[in-house]
Amino acid sequence: MLRFPLMSNAPAPASKDFIREMINADVEAQRSEGWVITRFPPEPNGYLHLGHAKSICLNFGLALEHAPKARCHLRFDDTNPTKEEVEYVESIQEDVRWLGFDWGTHCYYASDYFESLFGFAQQLIRKGLAYVDDQSLEQMRANRGSLTAPGTESPFRNRSVQENLALFDRMRAGEFPEGACVLRAKIDMASPNMNMRDPVIYRILKAHHHRTGDAWCIYPMYDFAHPLSDALEGITHSLCTLEFEHHRPLYEWLISQVEGLPGNPYQREFARLNLTYTVMSKRKLLELVREGLVTGWDDPRMPTISGIRRRGYTPTAIRTFCETVGLTKFPSLTELELLEHCVRGDLNKHAQRVYGVLRPIKVVLTNYPEGQVEMLEMANNPEDPEAGKRPVPLSRELYIDADDFMEHPVPDFHRLVPGGEVRLKFAFCIICNEVVKDADGKIVELRCTYDDATRHGVKPVGRPRVKGIIHWVSAAHALDAEVRLYDKLFTVEQPDEAAGEEGDFKQFLNPDSLETVCAKVEPSLSEAKPGSHFQFERVGYFFSDPKECRPGKLVFNRTVALKDGFSKAKA
Ligand code: ATP
Ligand code: MG
Repeated sequence: MLRFPLMSNAPAPASKDFIREMINADVEAQRSEGWVITRFPPEPNGYLHLGHAKSICLNFGLALEHAPKARCHLRFDDTNPTKEEVEYVESIQEDVRWLGFDWGTHCYYASDYFESLFGFAQQLIRKGLAYVDDQSLEQMRANRGSLTAPGTESPFRNRSVQENLALFDRMRAGEFPEGACVLRAKIDMASPNMNMRDPVIYRILKAHHHRTGDAWCIYPMYDFAHPLSDALEGITHSLCTLEFEHHRPLYEWLISQVEGLPGNPYQREFARLNLTYTVMSKRKLLELVREGLVTGWDDPRMPTISGIRRRGYTPTAIRTFCETVGLTKFPSLTELELLEHCVRGDLNKHAQRVYGVLRPIKVVLTNYPEGQVEMLEMANNPEDPEAGKRPVPLSRELYIDADDFMEHPVPDFHRLVPGGEVRLKFAFCIICNEVVKDADGKIVELRCTYDDATRHGVKPVGRPRVKGIIHWVSAAHALDAEVRLYDKLFTVEQPDEAAGEEGDFKQFLNPDSLETVCAKVEPSLSEAKPGSHFQFERVGYFFSDPKECRPGKLVFNRTVALKDGFSKAKA
């Protein structure tokens, strides 16, 4: 399996991948009069995940690249009424829009084509290319043969056209119970490709459909509905993931056998996105939601678009990530670090800088006048001069992060230690004179003195060089904030692989994937709007929770730590 580590092995630029080369050649040759019409065809049976983002960026991206003679359709493949819901349709539209793409007026549903699809099936029957099979599912399975042995023809395979048409009508009229019979394409029971061994194209399902209601009790199979929906919409390039490669002959068979189709699409496959430390299947993600192992589809630990949105990932970062991963014809595994790298890259440009202390420990500056408050001007974003400045209060009592103090320092610890000196970022240097503990020996306060002569980066005179710079907040002015520190959802890179066929991927859920702390943050955050990005200086990127953060109750989600492998031992 190919592996995409952080930035090494950088794939070819987007314009050079095999799909784009193929499409460019088609445009050059004026196939479909030079039009490029793609589609993103989700089944509305769950929320979209990062894998879908790859497909969305490809399909909608191609439409943008080939404008104006191009477009991308959003098509709901809603052929399985038992698993589909309106909630999913709405979330999918929201997610595609959030990623920055627009289908214009081209939102379609496979269910819109049920009548046409029924007609195509009748056409196949008339051509002697489809038949109603009364075998049970078990019999059909048993007669399918294997990779080494051909299948056995059904005893119903040679029914007359008239009989088949009548039976198919009766299937539609609801005369048979579920499982009594199916409609199959009549292709080749000896084909080396199992998908060509008389595939089922219609089945009976007495289920209510979220759009067609109870109008139908037979539903087309995906492999039948998909190519014909593509053709009905005039799709030129039907791009899907590798697992459909063996379905391509059936796709082509249907497009060539059904007459009167308005379009002539063809299918090509690319490798799906696999990401370390997560699972990328709606069915598995649904399991996590149903069993309450996460708080919902939009839990910030989920690889769903709604989850990463709530975590604070940005559409730009996701698009950059998809472009960086690129397209291959071989299965590949992408490291989570690459995604985080893209997220940091975008947030660094836009996130407002603030001071936040995750695990507060009090510092008293014993030589700083009681009652005095000074306002320091701090840059909102050094990467963006337009972002302006804000006042940050400094006073006698502060909070610093417990991680920035060690009573018994390990080697190379350059932050605050008893008797040692450290710089308070954008302020001055302080020396720790005394560690105050409670009856249980827990540190409650550090008593320090500050050196006024060390402001504006001036070095202390007559004392050793100060190596550490730490962040802080003024205790009297600080606000309480609930901060959710998210970590990997699973403890192993490939939970599916690790679990194997028999095992349960959920056994590898990371029990420490969420830690909630009561942080102290600078007062400017009282104005934090839900859904805003911040960089807590030296700590990481945080996102004010779009659902729960409000004036009077600050809630932040950690989007991503500041550096790869943020280390406790170094300043
Ligand atoms: P899941 O297994 O999560 O249910 P799916 O393929 O069944 O995914 P669909 O709703 O049928 O989900 O997928 C819509 C489109 O998204 C398809 O064209 C599919 O190929 C693509 N897609 C799904 N998963 C990935 C992935 N991991 N990487 C790239 N494309 C994907
Ligand atoms: Mg699917």
